[in-house]
Amino acid sequence: MRLAQHGDAGSFDCVAAFALRSSYFAQDDRVKQLMPMIKAVRGTRDLLPPETALWNFVEAAVRDVFCAYNFHEIRTPIFEHTQLFSRSVGEETDIVAKEMYTWEDRGRAQSDQGQSLTLRPENTAGVVRAYIEHKLWDRGLSKLYYIGPQFRRERPQKGRYRQFYQIGAEVIGPATAGSESPARDAEILELLATLLDRLGIKDWTLELNSIGCANDRAAYNEALRKALEPVAPQMCVDCQRRAVTNPLRVFDCKVPEDQAIIEKLPRISEFLDEPCRQHFEQVKEILKSVGVEFQLNDRLVRGLDYYTRTAFEFTHGALGAQNAILGGGRYDGLSEALGGPAAPGIGFAIGEDRLVLALSESAEGVLRKPDVYVAPLGAGMNKDAARLARELRRHDIVVELGDESFRLKKSLETASKLGAKYALIAGENELSTGVFALKNLATGEQKAVPRTELARAIQG
Ligand code: AMP
Repeated sequence: MRLAQHGDAGSFDCVAAFALRSSYFAQDDRVKQLMPMIKAVRGTRDLLPPETALWNFVEAAVRDVFCAYNFHEIRTPIFEHTQLFSRSVGEETDIVAKEMYTWEDRGRAQSDQGQSLTLRPENTAGVVRAYIEHKLWDRGLSKLYYIGPQFRRERPQKGRYRQFYQIGAEVIGPATAGSESPARDAEILELLATLLDRLGIKDWTLELNSIGCANDRAAYNEALRKALEPVAPQMCVDCQRRAVTNPLRVFDCKVPEDQAIIEKLPRISEFLDEPCRQHFEQVKEILKSVGVEFQLNDRLVRGLDYYTRTAFEFTHGALGAQNAILGGGRYDGLSEALGGPAAPGIGFAIGEDRLVLALSESAEGVLRKPDVYVAPLGAGMNKDAARLARELRRHDIVVELGDESFRLKKSLETASKLGAKYALIAGENELSTGVFALKNLATGEQKAVPRTELARAIQG
């Protein structure tokens, strides 16, 4: 292989790549068989630039909004004891029954016991476990948020993955710290509206319901069971099972033929006791007073005993079948279900993948492109160009640094391809006079700028 020399602009890449490729293909088929291409696991994906810019944009905006509402970040482990999820999410749910990545983690020593561990399918359980483990009630009301991957073995499709990301928050604490107040529910919902608006997501709908407290639901469950008895045999097999084990879950059914039956079932709103009705009224009043629109949807229910009162979902029209961007609600009994003290709470989880999908048309807009491409011109210029780039980067200028082996034409083409605003030519002449050629790549205009004024000229 011939080594490229200065003036051989761009030839090194080509020669080297060609040499590598030919030696690879020259290997016999046995090698190819030994090294099949490895792809990402089904339902998982790589996030690449420029899309990652959008993810960072979303996460930065989210962090800002959480900060304005005095929420603080919590990071819990990605795997937990399986029992945490079976006890909190519930054995009866699809998540626990069918979708968890669970394995038996063998003890390392004979004396160590094996244990069943699970990749977290959601993050509320982990947060509440941490709340209990670290006795966070001593701090009054905890307002916590998280951003991170979750894992569910679902059938992959657009907007549904096996590793997906959630942005979520939980407000939890003793009732004396105000954790039960409808003001907390309304604040969470108003935060979400602010967040979606801030991200430029316009066509969202907030669907809202109250599922009452355990007593209301016992009466409602009874009514549902009765209403389902004569019609269940005409429903799908899942609903036939739910009608017996957990009638509330019938509302999760997506089978089109079942919808007419579900439509006629009794509504939870008819079963709320006075304190629950008042709590819900106050949530709605506050939302109206802060101008957050909502639609009542009394089919929006959560089936486990510790879910109480407010339940909500934000949907987005443009997302198609997987149109729920986020879901959440109150879970006043969860802490007790996990062996902790009474700690009413409310939370939500946003599907970050879907949020980004809803935003993806603006992906180009948020990607920060180089402000300037520094083009070292001529042999030995790399080190001076590096110094120049370092100076400019200290002024928060995004700099892409070329290579002395590139001819000027190639440098300018590369700079344009990257979308840089300017090209800055760093040749021997420029270095010795201290005056540089700064070319505006959109207009083609070229100016001579003294070194000390370069940052201002690029930023201006
Ligand atoms: P859940 O924890 O089921 O209430 O889900 C909360 C949000 O997470 C949903 O509204 C979705 O936006 C998102 N989500 C749930 N499951 C998936 C998945 N498999 N892939 C992508 N996003 C998901």
